[in-house]
Amino acid sequence: MAGVEGAASKATRKPGPKLTPMLSQYLRLKDAHHDAILMFRLGDFYEMFFEDAERAAAILDITLTSRNKNDPQPIPLCGVPHHAVEPYIQKLLAAGLKVAICEQVEDPRGAKGLVEREVVRVITPGTVLEEENLDPRTPSFLAVLGESEAGFGLAVTDVSTGELRIFEYAQSPDVADADQLARRETLDALAEEINRLGVRELVLPNDAPELQHLLDRTPRIFKSRMPRSWCDADDALQWLATVDADTAGTIGSAGHAALGGLRSYLRETYRGTLGHLRAPEICHPRDTLALDEVTRMNLNVVYGPHGERRGSLLGLVDRGVTPMGSRTVRRWLLSPLTSCHAIARRLDAVEVLVEDVGLRADIREALAGMGDVERLAGRIGARRASPRDLARLATALTRIKNVRERASSATGLLGDLACSLDPLQDLVGRIEATLVDDPPATVRAGPVVRTGCHAEVDELRELARDGKGWVVALEARERTRTGIGSLKVKYNRVSGYAIEVTKANLASVPEDYVRKQTLAGAERFVTTELKEQERRLLGAEERLRQLEGEIFSELVEEAAAFQRALGANATALGGLDAMGGLAELAHDRGYVRPQIGEGNAIIVQEGRHPVLEAMHSAEPFVPNDCTLDDSQQIMLITGPNMAGKSTYLRQVGLIVLLAQAGSFVPAASAEIGIVDRIFTRVGASDDLTAGDSTFMVEMRETANILRELTDRSLVLLDEIGRGTSTYDGIAIAWAVTEYLHDQGPGAKTLFATHFYELTALAEERPRLRNYSVAVREWQDSIVFLRRIVAGPASRSYGVEVARLAGMPESGVERARGQLTTLER
Ligand code: ADP
Ligand code: MG
Repeated sequence: MAGVEGAASKATRKPGPKLTPMLSQYLRLKDAHHDAILMFRLGDFYEMFFEDAERAAAILDITLTSRNKNDPQPIPLCGVPHHAVEPYIQKLLAAGLKVAICEQVEDPRGAKGLVEREVVRVITPGTVLEEENLDPRTPSFLAVLGESEAGFGLAVTDVSTGELRIFEYAQSPDVADADQLARRETLDALAEEINRLGVRELVLPNDAPELQHLLDRTPRIFKSRMPRSWCDADDALQWLATVDADTAGTIGSAGHAALGGLRSYLRETYRGTLGHLRAPEICHPRDTLALDEVTRMNLNVVYGPHGERRGSLLGLVDRGVTPMGSRTVRRWLLSPLTSCHAIARRLDAVEVLVEDVGLRADIREALAGMGDVERLAGRIGARRASPRDLARLATALTRIKNVRERASSATGLLGDLACSLDPLQDLVGRIEATLVDDPPATVRAGPVVRTGCHAEVDELRELARDGKGWVVALEARERTRTGIGSLKVKYNRVSGYAIEVTKANLASVPEDYVRKQTLAGAERFVTTELKEQERRLLGAEERLRQLEGEIFSELVEEAAAFQRALGANATALGGLDAMGGLAELAHDRGYVRPQIGEGNAIIVQEGRHPVLEAMHSAEPFVPNDCTLDDSQQIMLITGPNMAGKSTYLRQVGLIVLLAQAGSFVPAASAEIGIVDRIFTRVGASDDLTAGDSTFMVEMRETANILRELTDRSLVLLDEIGRGTSTYDGIAIAWAVTEYLHDQGPGAKTLFATHFYELTALAEERPRLRNYSVAVREWQDSIVFLRRIVAGPASRSYGVEVARLAGMPESGVERARGQLTTLER
């Protein structure tokens, strides 16, 4: 891949050793793929040489040896067996490397001199297709950035499924200094999208220094570079015309450039057909509830507090029984909707499934065990499906037929999705008629083609079977003829058939035996007859394998012709499974359907924190109400540490998020006016890697909120001004609160603070109300009641909390005394 910059470095060509023709061939291929680890096929192994060998051996924990050991400058070498290469590739990718796979492209037996070799595929983190190297519940996105005079385009695909999305961001690329800020904002928006999707690999033009800001904002994402010329808009337009002429017109030049770049990059890495890329979905970030990275983290949308699935909203909500369902729910939580109509359609479907227990159970049962038909369809489109894959597809399609029959009479989205399922019964018929039951994972492992399906296959099989019988007969005959009881007819893949006679019996060997090979305790012979039969037998087996391969390829082509239907099936199954899971959750945990409207109020009765309430805890979860509207725009919540303020803020955010994702919510009732964006500023998140202090991060996040909020936003502020001195902190928190209020009655805000002083604001600002978390004083200590009540906290109870935390009694006494002095 010329011009592609990556992590691996150039293989050094030391002048010393004389290069064999094979090593020259290696270096030629390595030169063209200097950014990747080159896995060079040599017989049954993939070998790596030079620096590649040194790096790979360390990462893969395999032995580093060397070729021509006696040479003063031996060549480092390591290798892995070809049949077990997947885990090694996975490890190299995980270490941030690309892998170029080089195969022997001609049969070594027929080759004159050096076997012809070629790189057949370059595997990068974003172009993995093998199921064993992918997480079933997470999409694997590759994103390619394109640019035109109109702005930036982003083409995003999950290569394993062929799903394709296009984003466009209007922005002139050659901006004057004055527009520098606008440009940064565009790049920020792009980075947001890339981070939200969890892109695995981002591909950028290799001559774009102005994109540095984008790189800075996407630090954890694997980057690849490609020549700008690869972003060929014409190629994109031509392809779009073949898959979906209607959407082609709705994409601008930046989107075309990105799509052209994506296709070029895939062509370079796959080196095969791109048949599985589906018609693109045009995405408008404005159609979704914006959740920036900080908010996704604070609300633990997909990752829990320890960076794992456990403790996250997704971990709770994902009840999908198929990988498609899990991936769909993930997408819904990361991109909740902002259209009342679209949300209501989802909620209607979930409601049907909550109420009709039998329907829900039937659908989930039909879906379960279907496997990942979406990635299966991807492999079929990429012509990389195995015989086992096609058999699995046939089984899944039969289940799809059941789902369709069961759910197609439903109204609304549920019925629409069910009706869009196509069980492709003709294709199932073809697969079942062509393949054996339980076909193997590879064609070479045969048999693949069902008996009775193809006359020549049957004939060849007959021949091969007869041949084996013939060998047995020959052995018996020769034993009688020679009188050697231990005589055996042996077969070996390299040398073919032979008659083996032990040393002791050599005297009895007849004249017509021709010596072929000498072993430790025996000799091997052939006869004219045996050689003739061998030729026929091996010819038949070879032809049989080749023919089975051809028949199977034809079947894959037939299946690939249904790419569009297979893609649509996958989308519908994902939706049905996701809604079935949401219904199951609602049923299990007693969630209610939220009322979604265009109004500007959020009114929750007896709301609960979905994740906390589901975790086993000694304390039962205490529900709380919340009212945010034009007359009560800001709830200022005071109360001691550990009372439950942060939990309350998050729970309101999560209820809004769930509602707009189309889920029922953990509450007695909920009325949600559509929110366009949830902002959070929660706790002390120290961004040590960026070298920023807690206070700087806190202020940057706060500034960002004040700059970007709209009158439809929900703002959750938890403890602003903690990272500085008390007076500074109070002053900043005071100013921020006033600002939020004085913007007008739009942005709804929950503000938790331990600065008791702020409660005085309620007297000057009519739409701000004081609340607190109730505590009961009891025997010099306090009991948390977890209830949000009107009115400010009477005091901060810091000393009592310190006592609860186990501070020694003398310390507690001293603190109490000191507090009295300070308060005076
Ligand atoms: P604060 O922000 O006021 O310091 P948190 O919201 O962090 O307090 O809550 C502290 C702990 O109290 C939580 O980890 C949780 O275990 C418990 N808690 C909070 N709210 C509730 C509730 N409504 N019902 C039951 N337990 C709760
Ligand atoms: Mg807190």
